[in-house]
This record gives sequence, structure tokens and C-alpha cells, in this order.
Amino acid sequence: MTIDQFNFAGKKAFVRVDFNVPLDENFNITDDTRIRAALPTLKKILADGGSLIIGSHLGRPKGVADKFSLKHIVAHVSELLGVEVQFANDCMGEEAAAKSAALKPGEALLLENLRFYAEEEGKPRGLAEDATDEEKAAAKKAVKESQKEFTKKLASYADCYVNDAFGTAHRAHASTALIAKYFDKDNKMFGYLMEKEVKAVDKVLNDIHRPFTAIMGGSKVSSKIEIIENLLGKVDNLIIAGGMTYTFTKANGGNIGLSICEDDKLDLALDLQKQAKEKGVNLVLAVDAKIADSFSNDANTQFVDVNEIPDGWEGLDIGPKTEELFANVIKGSKTILWNGPTGVFEFDNFTHGSRAVGEAIVEATKNGAFSLVGGGDSVACVNKFGLAQGVSYVSTGGGALLEAIEGKTLPGIAAINE
Ligand code: AMP
Repeated sequence: MTIDQFNFAGKKAFVRVDFNVPLDENFNITDDTRIRAALPTLKKILADGGSLIIGSHLGRPKGVADKFSLKHIVAHVSELLGVEVQFANDCMGEEAAAKSAALKPGEALLLENLRFYAEEEGKPRGLAEDATDEEKAAAKKAVKESQKEFTKKLASYADCYVNDAFGTAHRAHASTALIAKYFDKDNKMFGYLMEKEVKAVDKVLNDIHRPFTAIMGGSKVSSKIEIIENLLGKVDNLIIAGGMTYTFTKANGGNIGLSICEDDKLDLALDLQKQAKEKGVNLVLAVDAKIADSFSNDANTQFVDVNEIPDGWEGLDIGPKTEELFANVIKGSKTILWNGPTGVFEFDNFTHGSRAVGEAIVEATKNGAFSLVGGGDSVACVNKFGLAQGVSYVSTGGGALLEAIEGKTLPGIAAINE
């Protein structure tokens, strides 16, 4: 079932959203992007004459905790949605059941943080540090058992289930995946945000216009290894950028000075190069670097050959030759995936490379390429440089997006499709 096909008139919809927004010390929302991202779905349901039971997590509470209460955001959700959103102080209590049952068409209820219950994630809490393996296993079994009741109860509030929380789609939690089995195929669906995310991932994994270029940046090879290996079977060009660069440089005999490097991954870097060659993938590595004499925005800097970084200096961004090299590859591409900055973009003096990559992607997009940007820091990058409008899609998913690109099945997606 798709959300556009479904008529919510007279139906109660349990909508799992990702309202995990940042709050300041006075519980003001500092960035409401995630709430806004769910609005099209919520508004469509209300406009149809349905009612909303909204479920979300906020932060990583280990139990009930005021600072993680969703009560702090109800007023803002009401304002954005244009209807007075009711609140249930406990997603499992009498109140939640009664308030859901009493909802009339066009009305909305926000449930308290689902993660106040260990059952949401299905992981035991409060285990003693010295718990034996047996105790751990028993606690795990107990929470898995009670998770069934928890999930069933959430499902009982509604007639249909809508998942619009892409950010948690890689987790098999009660409200993100397990709940779906209480609804038949005709009564469960993705929300609009989730649909867009799934479509964007599908485009870079299955509907590829070539050349396909992936730009993988960030700090460590180890955290990107599975994605890189999966991408080697798909892309025409794989650009390696960011801190990962220096593991490759060192593995190939270059001098990297104090640059970030994973010494236990040198063989892996060489193996990835070999795999690329065997698969006919153009692995593009940096040729020069902007180096610094300390890890700080105000450090002294110079541009050098990436293989000749002097002792005491470290590479914090790519240099102009590399920018040009990367930009040329990017501009000649028809499908582009970008994950991870080319340097320490948090320091203004080391943003140039990431900006250049972003601008090249925007230009390629103007010329008809499909470009997907995602995974934490690259989203921060395109936002920082005001380039978000110029790319085809900016994903809201961090871990979820990366797992999808690794080729893994995401439980939140599978549960709807089953
Ligand atoms: P990731 O979370 O793996 O995508 O890594 C993003 C982080 O990598 C950012 O915080 C960057 O500051 C960092 N990073 C990128 N390039 C470098 C570099 N050359 N040296 C140290 N850290 C880097």
C-alpha cells in the first residue's frame, strides 16, 4: 500500500516519526528539520479525515527521564501542524489507550518517548556490571518477551501503520519494524519522507546512470570498509577523501607526517586498491594536501604533495590539484553519491576541499546527474555551504543510509514490504 493510495478518512493511524530533535538547556528546539520533514505525511492523514497517533523516540534515555520527554516539543509540533496536538504522558498507560480511542477525525495525539520503555529497543536495562552471562541471557529473554506485549499494545491504538522514520529504519525496534506485523499489507505503508529516502537509495543502488561516482570522505577507513567494498562492485569512479586518504598514502610508501592513519588497515587499503583494479573501478586518491602544523583552525598551513608531508605536519584537507582532479571526475558523472567531508570541515580554514566537491556535485546535477548526499557530516557540509538546493536529494538518515548502501536489508523497510 502507498500513502497516496490510502484514504485515512475515519481511520486512526499510528505514525512512527523521527522527532529526535536537538534541544537546548531550556528545552527549546534548536533545529526542527526532522519535525518539518514529517509534516507532509501528518498533514495528508489529517486532511483525509484521519486521526494521528504519533510515536517517536528522543535521545537515548535509559528509563523515564524528564530531559528526554517529548512534552517539550508538543507545542511546536502543534504550531507546525496547525492543530492542537494532545499528549499522553506514558505510551503504555491507561491515558494513552483512552486518548487514542477518543480521537476524532482531524485530531492528533503525541505519545511520550517510546524509549522510556526498554521494550522499544528490546535491550535489557539496569543489568549489574558484574552480571553473569546467564543473567544477561535471562534479562534479554525477559525483555524480548515483554516486547511482544508492548508492541501489540502500541498496535492496538490504531487501524493502520505508517512508518516515516528513515533515521531508525536500520533498527528492528518495536515501533519501527515489529509493529508492522500487526497490520496486513493493505494497512501499512511508508510515509512520504520514507518513500523519498527509499527511492533515492534505490536510484543509486539499482537505477544507475553511468558514469557512477562515489565520494567517500570522513575520518576512518575502518568505519567505511563495508560500504567501500559494496560500492566497488557498482561504481565507475571511487573517490577517497578525508582522513582515510593517509592510510592509503602510507600503505603506498608516502610520508604522511602526523596525519590521521590506521596502521592496522594498511594491508586493507592495498587490498581495496587491488580489488578496484580487478573490477575496473577508477580509484581516485588525493595528489596534494593542505597541511597544518597543529590540529587547529589557526595552524600554519602549506600545500604539499600528498606523499611528502613533513614530520610534525598533518593533512587536514585536500589541495588545489586534488580539488581539480576530483571536480573533473564528478562533473563527468551521471550518478553521484557523497558521504563524508574531504577534510576537517569544522575548521573554516579546512573547508575548501569539501566546498569544491559540493560545488562540482551541484554543477553535475545541473547537467542532469542524480546526486545523493547523506550520512551525518556530508549533510552538515552541504547545509553549511548552502548547496542543499542544488543536489538531487539530501538524506535524513545517517546510519540507516549507510547500511542501505552497504546493501543490507533495513528492518523498517522490510517490515512494510513483507
Ligand atoms: P565520518 O564521521 O567518518 O564521516 O568522519 C567525519 C569527520 O572526519 C569530520 O569530523 C572531519 O573533521 C573528520 N576528518 C576529515 N578529514 C580529516 C583529516 N584529514 N584529519 C582528521 N579528521 C578528518
